[in-house]
Amino acid sequence: MGKPHSYSAQASWSNGHAEQGSAYHLGKEIQQWSKGACSSIDAKREVWKVLWSLKIPNSVKVFLWKACHNLLPTKANLLKRKVVEDGLCPCCGREDETVLHALWDCPSAQDVWGCGASCFKKCYTVGDNFLQLFEHFLHRFSPNNLELLEMVARRIWLQRNSLVFEGKFLHPNTLYAEAISACDDFYCSTKTTMVLASVSVDVQELARIWKAPSAGLIKINWDAALKWRTNLDKRLNTYFKKSS
Ligand SMILES: [Zn+2]
Repeated sequence: MGKPHSYSAQASWSNGHAEQGSAYHLGKEIQQWSKGACSSIDAKREVWKVLWSLKIPNSVKVFLWKACHNLLPTKANLLKRKVVEDGLCPCCGREDETVLHALWDCPSAQDVWGCGASCFKKCYTVGDNFLQLFEHFLHRFSPNNLELLEMVARRIWLQRNSLVFEGKFLHPNTLYAEAISACDDFYCSTKTTMVLASVSVDVQELARIWKAPSAGLIKINWDAALKWRTNLDKRLNTYFKKSS
């Protein structure tokens, strides 16, 4: 597999070519915009609008933006730039590793998309690149599902890197569960921030109207919010059962 060579190739891409590529594509996009709107530009505009509005970490949004612009350092992309000598997928070794193959078509990726509770298991390949596939999903899935899709795609890519550089490979179910958990964590962290911000205002009002309970009594007020998408409620139930 030639890990040392691949690693230096990856590093050089990360440090230079990808940034140049991003700037190039961004420049081309601006040029196209200045020439006037067309249907493909409108479609792209919708993609970016949805992408940036999703409730996921910015690092994941940037990753998807790069994937849609074919800017990930896949073997096929590195071969085009003569950084590596073959473009075969390091996971399956059957086809050239394009972005679409790495994140969707590769059997190792399909194992993740098709695992147990996945809502993507019956989806088929649409288009010739990842942008076209994402455009297709845009009209098919809710924002919640798109957020999960991005988290899963990001983890599939990290898994691919983990295999190439460290020889590690997680079970598809574990990877999918990690993506769900990451969605939960991000949702809860942003929700907690919002709640705390509102509570800080409410606390002042409560302090003004609060009255001490009668002697010998204890008053406890509490609130909780659960997200339907995950098994967080089950985990909380388990926690409370253990605690009681
Ligand atoms: Zn493959």
